[in-house]
Amino acid sequence: MKVVVAEYAGFCFGVRRIAEMIEEELAKGGELFALGEPIHNPIKVEEWKKRGLKLITRASELPEGAKVIVRAHGVPKEEWEVLEQKAGEIIDGTCPLVRKVYDRARYLVENGYFVVIAGDPSHPEVKGEMSYLPEGKYAVFSGKNGDVPDESFKRDRKKVGVVAQTTLSDKLLANVVTPLIGVEELLIFNTICYETHRRQNSAKELASRVDLMIVVGGKNSSNTSKLYSICREIVESNHVESAEELKEDWFAGKNVVGVTAGASTPDEVIDEVVRKIKSL
Ligand code: SF4
Repeated sequence: MKVVVAEYAGFCFGVRRIAEMIEEELAKGGELFALGEPIHNPIKVEEWKKRGLKLITRASELPEGAKVIVRAHGVPKEEWEVLEQKAGEIIDGTCPLVRKVYDRARYLVENGYFVVIAGDPSHPEVKGEMSYLPEGKYAVFSGKNGDVPDESFKRDRKKVGVVAQTTLSDKLLANVVTPLIGVEELLIFNTICYETHRRQNSAKELASRVDLMIVVGGKNSSNTSKLYSICREIVESNHVESAEELKEDWFAGKNVVGVTAGASTPDEVIDEVVRKIKSL
């Protein structure tokens, strides 16, 4: 059986950046707290926890004067303010491309646009973006299952500006933007990050020339789930977090298997999956 790994798979620039920050801090010893899971990969997070990283779910849980790292997809404004009051040191792991979405959204508000965020309102990144915008000046649409702007939304607004969750698919962004065509002034910042684009496009290309796709990454990772839904529209696909979840019968009669991985999947987990498939 031939196994082909997608050209772009695994750690993206923002995740690699925060992973290096955590490694550096853990190597120094001392206590390090993380507000929320720093990346959406349970295997890597478990490994860091064993080496001393302590997870907290709210900024208020941080002990006075402690050192804390902020996750790649940022934290809401209120949480950041609490961290500023309590932390001895804040290490900002927020990906610069996520910061750029905040900046674009702020620019839109300052210039009189009603902001549409295309994305999942329960995702930490979108929650962060919402927290920096004034109430009544923005709306969030996921682009899924008819969650898109309707006619009255369009009728009531003359200036609309759009930003997208960095890990959104092109298709969902198009679902949100298309009904807005007709608004007098429509400004779209395509803030889907280039790393997401690369991974989605190379997964799509690979899925079209294999018999089966294996998508590797956290079940809590939004970008991994998007890769999985893109692949399964093209070819039979399975989503696993690690090599242990692979099932032998998936591979019966398959000649070529493609492997892709979400932006928070470490290289060693991808390598382990490839090794196991080859051994079947
Ligand atoms: S997916 Fe893009 S925006 Fe998100 S952490 Fe990675 S590089 Fe940054």
